[in-house]
Amino acid sequence: MSGFPDFPNSAQQETLSAIRRSFHREPELSWTEFRTSARLCAELTELGFKIQYGKDLYGERTPSNPPEAEVSRQAYARAEAALGRNNSYLTAMAGNRTGLCATLEGGHPGPVWGFRFDIDALPIQESRDHSHPPAAQGFASDNPGVMHACGHDGHLTIGLGLAQRLAATREQWCGRVHLFFQPAEEVGGGGVVFADLPQLHEVERFMTLHLGIVDAYQIICDATWICAKIYDVRFRGRASHAGNAPQDGRNALLAACQAVQGLYALPRHSGGLSRINVGRFHSANAHNVIADDVYFRYEVRGANNDVADYMAQQAEQVLGGAAMMNGVEYEKTTFAEFSGWPNSPELAEKVEKVARDLGLPEELLQRPYLVPASEDAGYMVRRVRDQGGLATHLILGCPVGDGHHSCAFDFDERLLPWGVELFYRMVADGEKE
Ligand SMILES: [Zn+2]
Ligand SMILES: [Zn+2]
Repeated sequence: MSGFPDFPNSAQQETLSAIRRSFHREPELSWTEFRTSARLCAELTELGFKIQYGKDLYGERTPSNPPEAEVSRQAYARAEAALGRNNSYLTAMAGNRTGLCATLEGGHPGPVWGFRFDIDALPIQESRDHSHPPAAQGFASDNPGVMHACGHDGHLTIGLGLAQRLAATREQWCGRVHLFFQPAEEVGGGGVVFADLPQLHEVERFMTLHLGIVDAYQIICDATWICAKIYDVRFRGRASHAGNAPQDGRNALLAACQAVQGLYALPRHSGGLSRINVGRFHSANAHNVIADDVYFRYEVRGANNDVADYMAQQAEQVLGGAAMMNGVEYEKTTFAEFSGWPNSPELAEKVEKVARDLGLPEELLQRPYLVPASEDAGYMVRRVRDQGGLATHLILGCPVGDGHHSCAFDFDERLLPWGVELFYRMVADGEKE
């Protein structure tokens, strides 16, 4: 198989594949990563890390866009059934306070490092087809309707692998390392909360990564992500009999339909790529009633914050116009935002050098790259850069089955030990330059 070479230490490869597969079997949705977080807490404590989780970690901060109470209750009950009712990690995470920060001091003074790994899964029923490796090899999801379909099981495995390497060589490296296991990337909420953590505020060098993405074998040392803004809209009109007195109604459904058409026709900006999408649309009115209540959710994206802001303003005008044409009212609320932020070229260069020193083939290396998708790590990158630190986002690219967020998503596990080693060498080689 072409692409990434096999990692020289096959035992390390096997260890990481086994960890990845065990987490792949137990995916949890955004803000319900109870079992995943509790397991990480236990394993990192065992390695000698100081961990902060639950109420101690969150303080007054609260999860944004948590799922419905029943979804959380079921996920918590599932974690309790697996780990026991009195698991102290779990009880501290009640109220969707999932994720954790694990900290280790090296043997010598040095910089404060931050590494971020997202840990959530998606509401997707995993494929059972034998062409899908997790199904064929018996490690597909055991949690019905939930799947690690974006590779975050691989991210947290790299985090745990990095923790093992750091703990085993603690006396040899300099500085302090914070490992951020961040919940709820897929709903754009976890990054906002974690960007506000005091541990991040002392980070001088920050790195994060994503597996897959480009559907080809590549190491991208300087990946930036486009900005996204997601909104909920409710159009409210007046109901009336559709046969008897349609003239008395104010048609919210018609207004919303015209708004959707208008959104897709937004004039574009020359400052970079843009996107628009309406992903859900709902009206529960009867067939013989002029519809008075419609809801939909849309998103705009832009290559940078300026383009995304422009798209958001144009969209607002369309909503207002459609409402006015039909004599209805509308209300718009922000569901989530993903901010993009430029990386530090000097840190990206250093990752590239480390990759070369590890013997990774030159043709795999690429930077920079603008990913036409969004990532809430942008908030953490921005925070670190605003406080004078260096930050970069890495992509370990590989073919990804049927694509991200599909029921047959998969990635090449050979990337896992290379990911661990790249991050580890950044810390371990830190003071040699
Ligand atoms: Zn995703
Ligand atoms: Zn992802």
